[in-house]
Amino acid sequence: MRRKLVVGNWKMYGSLTSNKALLESLVTGLYKYRQADYAVCVPHPYLAQAQSILEGTNIAWGGQNMNQFEAGAFTGSVAPHMLVDFGCRYVIIGHSERRELCHESDLVISAKFEAAIKDGMNPIFCLGETREEHESGKAEHVVARQLDAVLTRMGAEGIAKGVLAYEPVWAIGTGRGASPEQAQHMHAFIRSRVANLDRVIAARLRIIHGGSVRVSNAAQLLSMPDIDGALVGSASLVAPQFIAICRAAN
Ligand code: PEP
Repeated sequence: MRRKLVVGNWKMYGSLTSNKALLESLVTGLYKYRQADYAVCVPHPYLAQAQSILEGTNIAWGGQNMNQFEAGAFTGSVAPHMLVDFGCRYVIIGHSERRELCHESDLVISAKFEAAIKDGMNPIFCLGETREEHESGKAEHVVARQLDAVLTRMGAEGIAKGVLAYEPVWAIGTGRGASPEQAQHMHAFIRSRVANLDRVIAARLRIIHGGSVRVSNAAQLLSMPDIDGALVGSASLVAPQFIAICRAAN
């Protein structure tokens, strides 16, 4: 039985004051709900704040990106061990906004996945097709390519040390997410591709879902057999909404 995981992706939102209120509400709202795992991925400057408020609670925290190298002349970058220094259990890798806006390639993303594992974190590896790819019937082809970049480097055993997040790009931030059936189809496709290498590992791999997950659709999405949790953007910034989604997972 795979334990569900709900992760909030705060993107570039927040302030010391608003974060404090949000994090404290999450701690209070979730402390009794022990049947699922929860995390928030915050902007890097707020990692110390997240650590000080969440340490010892049932909510983990993480980064939204990192460099694949441990040190070097990479102005503006953050190394894996720096996230570990602030107690990060998770790091989002290959989010579609970084693939698109920062031109991150499958190769770079697979290197980041490996680096996160090496430093003892759980990478949350995002994959998903754009609207154009979706409408032209290329979703499986694109997702297979993205998945294979990490599978080839890490093998089935390696990929299972992280978490996969299927996020159709056309569903992110639009308020019009994939239907539970559409999402389930792609999650099952991803799992079957890993199962081609190792059935046992595929059965325990967590594949969470992102793209306009809201209070209104969370329970239905989370009830699908291959959906093991949610990666939540905008709804993770509103405490009652994020708490309700987490409770649906619980
Ligand atoms: C995301 O950016 O990972 C995301 C899922 O955003 P939203 O929930 O706002 O669609």
